[in-house]
Amino acid sequence: MVKNPNLAKAINDRGWGMFLTMLKYKAQRFGHTYLEVGRFFPSSQLCSETLLPIPILQNGYNSLGVRFVDCPHCQKQHDRDINGAINIRNEGLRILALGTSASAQGGDVRPMASGRKKSTVVLAIPDE
Ligand SMILES: [Zn+2]
Repeated sequence: MVKNPNLAKAINDRGWGMFLTMLKYKAQRFGHTYLEVGRFFPSSQLCSETLLPIPILQNGYNSLGVRFVDCPHCQKQHDRDINGAINIRNEGLRILALGTSASAQGGDVRPMASGRKKSTVVLAIPDE
């Protein structure tokens, strides 16, 4: 989210770091697991049913104004936010199960810029 310049200013202005601190504290307090998914995880660009990449240029899907996309893989219409949320949840569960954030595709391919956050999305999953 924070890599989008329009959203980044709004999120940073409202104290994203403070929000994360509070979320960690609340997760610990209520016995939940707090973890962060890699900032380059393509949550909105994968079909949540088949895990295949959704062509991002199709129908201008890369624009945040496009809220739905017709998936060429599962033939369903995905809500961008719901699809992304399902992918983030599944990625969090995968990280928990494997104990590593390395992805099957070989992890992050972009170099980590110094002074920037490692991740932008957060999960708080109830412990079993
Ligand atoms: Zn799909």
